[in-house]
Amino acid sequence: MSSPISKSAFIKAEQCLKHFYLYKNHPYLRDALSKDKQFIFKRGTDVGIFAQHLFPGGIDVTAGEKRDQQAFAQKTKDLIAQGIRTIYEATFIYDNLLVMVDILHKQDNQWIAYEVKSSLKITDTYVKDACFQYYVIKNCLPGLIDFNLLTLNPKYTLQGELEIGGLFKTTSILKDAIKNTEYFAHKTQLAKLTLEQGKIPDIKIGTHCFQPYECDFLGTCWKNTNDPASVLTLGKLTKQAMFELYDTNIKRIDQIDISTITQKEIRVQVKAAIEQKEQIYAEEVKTFLSNIKLPVCSLDVEVWMPAIPYYQGTKPFQQIPFLFSMIHEDNSILKHYSYFKPIEEDLRKEFLEHILSATKEFNSILMFDKSLEETVLNQLAELFPEYRNDIAKLKSKIIDLAEPIRKGNYYHPGMNGNFTLKSLAPVVSEASGFNELDIQSGISAMYIYESLLVQNTIETETTKQQLIDYCEMDALVTYRLMNFFMNKTGHALPQ
Ligand code: SF4
Repeated sequence: MSSPISKSAFIKAEQCLKHFYLYKNHPYLRDALSKDKQFIFKRGTDVGIFAQHLFPGGIDVTAGEKRDQQAFAQKTKDLIAQGIRTIYEATFIYDNLLVMVDILHKQDNQWIAYEVKSSLKITDTYVKDACFQYYVIKNCLPGLIDFNLLTLNPKYTLQGELEIGGLFKTTSILKDAIKNTEYFAHKTQLAKLTLEQGKIPDIKIGTHCFQPYECDFLGTCWKNTNDPASVLTLGKLTKQAMFELYDTNIKRIDQIDISTITQKEIRVQVKAAIEQKEQIYAEEVKTFLSNIKLPVCSLDVEVWMPAIPYYQGTKPFQQIPFLFSMIHEDNSILKHYSYFKPIEEDLRKEFLEHILSATKEFNSILMFDKSLEETVLNQLAELFPEYRNDIAKLKSKIIDLAEPIRKGNYYHPGMNGNFTLKSLAPVVSEASGFNELDIQSGISAMYIYESLLVQNTIETETTKQQLIDYCEMDALVTYRLMNFFMNKTGHALPQ
């Protein structure tokens, strides 16, 4: 008999049977896990372990064992037989289907299962996962009377000692699980049949490659579409619209009838790909630049969003600003300044005072996609109302350089359908900049900041510098983007 079908494998079968088949039989073809995904998975595991405090004193089935799921299932059986009341990572195999559940707890002689999600919300996918777990466990353990999802409670605020009961929210999915028993019996048979057929299912790429999760085999299935002229690079099109073209045999951008495209931001992308040159609406960009007043600086802020609140008065996943970098020009020399908040202390007030003082003398503050920075400033204004006017003044000086890109007033074929600052970096300056950095995304920056909690002082200094380098690069590319637009349009800032 083949190895059991796990919950992860079953969810893949639900998304695409080819995904499932490749996962089971050709795992070596999987794409390398990005750093961002690795961090997100680790956070999930950490929150799962933390939730064990809700039911202390349990036994972890996986502790000290090598990864052998059959042995985990046997150990779970043994622990239940021995009368253990709380089991972590309890493992069950039924009909060659395998599930593990974060916490299994016996209450009044009846079993209740808890699956932990590092999230504020319950999604349909979480419910489906949990129903599958219930289906398998109920068949192994008839005494199971309920199955709950534990999510982080968005209303919880840390006041004094962390109160674990209030931090997590419990939601039963029992009704859904009972209603869907037949569904799982049928769908798991279909998955098994796919494996028995012994050949990769012939399934075309489509919107399902990204729903509910981005597939791990894009590198295999999508390799023939890796052409900058493919319609699948039209980043401003919805996935559905992209595949409507692709499936009607319009596979290359130059096959599109441009007169049928009404949205400017898509039209510039199509034109740029066909003509292989940048598209610029110089007058519109010039009008935009005329809002910039000297002296000007660029600014970037990094935030930490701890799942489990770390500072008094904060909630799960609250955005805590910890670093800002700014760039300005002084006698044609670029100057940079950064403020870094140590993780141990809640120095948000100092952070705010530094950002206000550093930007005070500037009449324009450049950002690229100001939404995060604005949210952070709004939160700080609520927290420190005495600075409300200063914050409002700072906000009034923000110029968002993402705007001309968003409105389709500038597009370069080298952006390949991406509209991020990172995709613009090689366009606005010769070196790509970001590629040489240890940290390459805001998500990574956030998790790497969190790792400071367990680092020694030497490691801390290195990490701090890596974070500053990343933030400064964001601010630098933003500043260069302004100069780039000025060169392109011939606009000069009034002295
Ligand atoms: S990339 Fe798409 S078609 Fe290929 S296995 Fe994944 S989901 Fe299926």
